[in-house]
Amino acid sequence: MSKKPSIGTLCVHAGYASGKGQPRQMPIVQSTTFKYETSDQMARLFDLEDAGYFYTRLANPTNDMVAARIATLEGGVAGMLTSSGQAANFYACFNIANAGDHIVSATSIYGGTFNLLGTSMAKMGIEVTFVDQDASEEEIAKAFRPNTKLLFGETVSNPGIAVLDVEKFARIAHSHGVPLIIDNTFATPVNYRPIEHGADIVTHSTTKYMDGHGVSVGGAIVDSGNFDWEAHADKFPGLCTPDESYHGLTYTKKFGKLAYITKATSQLMRDFGSIQSPQNAFYLNLGLQSLHVRMARHCESAKKVAEWLRTHPMVSWVNQSDLCGVLAFGLKGGRDFAIKFMDALRIVTIETHVADCYTCILHPASHTHRQMSDEQLLEAGVAPDLVRLSIGLEDADDIIYDIDQAIKTAQAE
Ligand SMILES: *Cc1c(COP(=O)(O)O)cnc(C)c1O
Repeated sequence: MSKKPSIGTLCVHAGYASGKGQPRQMPIVQSTTFKYETSDQMARLFDLEDAGYFYTRLANPTNDMVAARIATLEGGVAGMLTSSGQAANFYACFNIANAGDHIVSATSIYGGTFNLLGTSMAKMGIEVTFVDQDASEEEIAKAFRPNTKLLFGETVSNPGIAVLDVEKFARIAHSHGVPLIIDNTFATPVNYRPIEHGADIVTHSTTKYMDGHGVSVGGAIVDSGNFDWEAHADKFPGLCTPDESYHGLTYTKKFGKLAYITKATSQLMRDFGSIQSPQNAFYLNLGLQSLHVRMARHCESAKKVAEWLRTHPMVSWVNQSDLCGVLAFGLKGGRDFAIKFMDALRIVTIETHVADCYTCILHPASHTHRQMSDEQLLEAGVAPDLVRLSIGLEDADDIIYDIDQAIKTAQAE
């Protein structure tokens, strides 16, 4: 058979193949440590001379199989799992940006990542400049400095559902000799593979669609293997000059296309330890095996609900993209009406989460951003009437019925 497997087949099979008499399902290797026969074998692992497992804080076979599955889905050469999406974005950036360095990022990104870059990484001495992702290439280029180490963006932004022009971002990053890091959480590789459009590193909060059932928090990083670190060696000394904590080995020389992920595992996981538990990696794997089936349903239902919302007189606008099942819409009637509406919902639940099997709703002006005035909300890029709706796996007709009855109930009050 010479046909390249399609994405659905990869969701089920990539990263794990069982041999004769071996478990059909990917096993959980629930062990902190791994045994060796000789002192020399162990020493070679610590010198990164041999590949192998020694401690689950750095790497674990179950995690690696799941990471390999995600890397294959994204079309990358290597991947790693982290304890959360936050850890994935932190590691992805901190692996190549140190104190004194600078990052350029789109403004339309997940609030947690906005804080990570703008507050916590700032405390570590890494500066960020946020740019309007819809600005021209010339305008965005103005944000770059000699010490800029990466460009960051999200395929589809949370909560605004703004779709990023990844190819434009890739051109801008590469013309400045830095990699493009894309958070592909909302689209998932089933609907969009940023590497095919020029991204160098892809990150995920696997907590969302990949897990898909609201059971485990996790993250992933995938390297395309495409960025030529050596060509910009002066910018990336961490990858291109000797690491004294590993007897002076140089990641790019020793590991080639695996340099970036190897450094993130052997340095950042070693020192920060934000590893995903093998048990959670196993749950994530179960989610991945149906990702292609679920994404199709999430997107089809989101489209149906969006079409219905567009015709409703109480709805002022709808933002929906075929890339994911999360949509945003404007509800007329102000904050009071939004609260009455949400309290009247029966199937749709009020949650800060998104992108799993349960349909859920959030009104930032009443919830996550409730301390802000309407003017402040607009400044933060969140419309006061914006309602975020994440379409689950219930029947679309039932979701529509629930929204309809809740608007009627709110109107009657
Ligand atoms: C949720 C989310 C994150 C953070 O992930 P956690 O798993 O909650 O740490 C990062 N990026 C995006 C786009 C998200 O939706």
